[in-house]
Amino acid sequence: MVFPEVLPVLPLKDVVVYPFSVQPLGVGQERSIRLIDDVMRSDRLVVLVAQKSADIEQAGPDDIFRIGTVSRVGRMFRMPDGTLQIAVQGLERVEINEFTQEKPYLMARITPRPDVQEEDTETEALKRNVISYFQRLVALVQNVPEGVAAATLNLEEPRQVVYVIATFVQMDLELRQKLLEIDSVHEKLAQLSSFLTHELEILELGKKIQTSAQEEMGKMQREYLLREQLKAIQRELGEESEEQATVNELRHKIDEAHMPEEALKEANRELSRLEKLPTASPEYSIIRTYLELLVSLPWSKGSGERIDVAHARQVLDEDHYDLEKIKERILEYLAVRHLKEERQRAEAARERELQEGEEEEQKGTTQPLQSQEEKRVINREPILCFVGPPGVGKTSLGQSIARALGRKFARISLGGIRDEAEIRGHRRTYIGAMPGRIIQTLRRVETNDPVIMLDEVDKVGADWRGDPSSALLEVLDPEQNYSFRDNYLDLPFDLSKVMFIATANALEPIPAPLRDRMEILELSGYTEEQKVHIARSYLLPKQLEANGLKQGEMTVDDDVIRRVVREYTREAGVRNLEREIGTLCRKVAKQISEGQPSPIHVTADDVPEYLGRRRFFEEAAERLDRPGIATGLVWTPVGGEIIFVEAATMPGREERLILTGQLGDVMKESAAAALSYVRSNAVELGLPRHVFENQNIHIHVPAGAIPKDGPSAGVTMVTVLVSLASGRRVRSDVAMTGEMTLRGRVMPIGGVKEKVLAAFRSGIRTVILPQKNEADLMEDLPKELRDQMHFVFATDIRDVLEAALEDEPVSKNGKEDSNVRRKRKKDKEKEKAGAHA
Ligand code: ADP
Repeated sequence: MVFPEVLPVLPLKDVVVYPFSVQPLGVGQERSIRLIDDVMRSDRLVVLVAQKSADIEQAGPDDIFRIGTVSRVGRMFRMPDGTLQIAVQGLERVEINEFTQEKPYLMARITPRPDVQEEDTETEALKRNVISYFQRLVALVQNVPEGVAAATLNLEEPRQVVYVIATFVQMDLELRQKLLEIDSVHEKLAQLSSFLTHELEILELGKKIQTSAQEEMGKMQREYLLREQLKAIQRELGEESEEQATVNELRHKIDEAHMPEEALKEANRELSRLEKLPTASPEYSIIRTYLELLVSLPWSKGSGERIDVAHARQVLDEDHYDLEKIKERILEYLAVRHLKEERQRAEAARERELQEGEEEEQKGTTQPLQSQEEKRVINREPILCFVGPPGVGKTSLGQSIARALGRKFARISLGGIRDEAEIRGHRRTYIGAMPGRIIQTLRRVETNDPVIMLDEVDKVGADWRGDPSSALLEVLDPEQNYSFRDNYLDLPFDLSKVMFIATANALEPIPAPLRDRMEILELSGYTEEQKVHIARSYLLPKQLEANGLKQGEMTVDDDVIRRVVREYTREAGVRNLEREIGTLCRKVAKQISEGQPSPIHVTADDVPEYLGRRRFFEEAAERLDRPGIATGLVWTPVGGEIIFVEAATMPGREERLILTGQLGDVMKESAAAALSYVRSNAVELGLPRHVFENQNIHIHVPAGAIPKDGPSAGVTMVTVLVSLASGRRVRSDVAMTGEMTLRGRVMPIGGVKEKVLAAFRSGIRTVILPQKNEADLMEDLPKELRDQMHFVFATDIRDVLEAALEDEPVSKNGKEDSNVRRKRKKDKEKEKAGAHA
């Protein structure tokens, strides 16, 4: 294309017009309007060139670049304000040489500068790169008109590619101009390509940042939106949301729970609070847990069973051998309760009739369902408390009572409870607050009239915080327990229908106010014969069943049971006996499952084969082989026990009393008193006047695990000392117990029956007891003991010594002479005859 040598020059602000590109331009300056007017009248050609700076008005020759583009002005519109809108098309690159005029507009002499187009593969590759970058860029930016990206794909010439793309990509003026000024198209492409990659990187990174931020935000929003949508859908379908379902379910349960008015009000109040809370709030779950407790409590749900005393008698007999006195007392208790309940019911029925009559008269007014509550009859019966060693049937009696009454049975173990809140619960404001054990138990049994056994009340208060006995008292006191307030529940709950039974191993540790509320029923333990009975009729059938054996598959002699009782257990109750019988059954079950033909008959001789070596021996006879040792009897929470009291003397300048065996203070004092008694009454006791003079005396009470305290070893201590001083042995088949005063009187002690049973278990047949204990002992002494044992009731220590000591001293070498031996034999015979008398 040939151009005139001189052409008008139009400076442009911030725009570079390239060859091949068509661009709209606004023309506002007066000289420029004149210029356009003039070219429009001739060949429409003009050199468009960028100003170095957009700030300059009326740019002169020095203010513009040297390289521009010859362009043709296409269309022109005159705007109402006099400015022009034109469309130009770039034709060719030119260099401006010298200006021929500056006024009214710039005219200059020009030289065409066509681009240098390389025809190599590298240029082609660059071209393609630039096109593909541009495509990617277009996808990321908004300001490129539609269709441009597609159009670039069809461009053939590399320099066309450069110019078209550069026109549409935003870049600063410097680079724009540079792209025009560079001669080599290859170089132009390279520049553009590097610009585009850089731009793409930035854009893509920006996009990435944006999308990940959006994703974060989006997830929350999305969930929220989805939830809202779900709610809307559920509403649309007539279904309820999860929260709504929870609330509705709770409301339904509140209706079902038949709560008293106060509780109902509270429940409804909490429910309406729950409705307003978002599920995620911590308070939501606190309230929900609370409401769930409220609705699951048996406010008015009882077992509905009435007390049937005859049936109760039957059940108690079915489950327990003997225990006559206890059963009798339980039945009395039930009878009284039954009577009261019946009267109460009759009263309520009459009330109701009256009320209904009134209602007939004044129809329309509704009456609250409160008559029963107002007519409370306070049940002043004491709480039964079973006291006795383990395994005597305390728990199983409780279970029997529940069974007899058709009520639920639950145990609350008070042993090891650390603080009051265990009973009464924690306030709801504490994190992790829970109701106390009473309320938890009621929730579990789901009725408001269960038999609740409070186990180990004697372990209460040992290390309790707060005032535990007051909490328990409130539970047990009929004047208060119809409105028992648990801290967590914070509403009164009626415990008056619950039947509480307490158990304890020992009486003394029970806090006095608590003991006051209870009637103590003592279970002291069983004799051998009783145990055999219990084992045969109760424990064996139970264990057979527990071990999957059928009636008749295993048979045992009574001798087997007796041997197990005697040689494998030494306990007041039958817990270990039951365990050993269980072992027997298990072993037999194994034999049967291994194919041995049943029935398997177990004899007494087989016992060691099943249960191993015998575990207990009758050691009294062996141990009491010299003067200075005697058998005492002590009471422990697990039943009576025998202990051996030993004494020895050795010469010493000052007289000292040495006591060993971890004795308690009271027992130490009785040792000192015993010594004083012996020394001050030496002559009367037939001892040398200055007995134990210049002697150290050592009293020792071995046998590890038994707690050794209390005054009841007094008589034993004296006996041991007299035996030691006189050289007369203590009879090996005699055991003794009793407190003694300094003047030698024998005082009564506790736990007589347990002690006698313990002596009997250890093969001892004569027991020396304080006279004053005779009545309690004989009151319910099992026949077996009455028949087989000999009791000596002492008022003075001399009675004890007479019964306990052998008549003659042993000779120096520790052997009896033949005279003495003969006499001893005769004595024994006499004694036997006496026991039967
Ligand atoms: P405790 O609660 O006094 O420690 P348990 O009630 O657990 O004792 O009794 C232990 C086992 O001995 C139970 O299987 C119980 O049935 C049984 N038992 C105890 N005394 C008798 C009895 N007089 N008649 C029948 N079984 C008894």
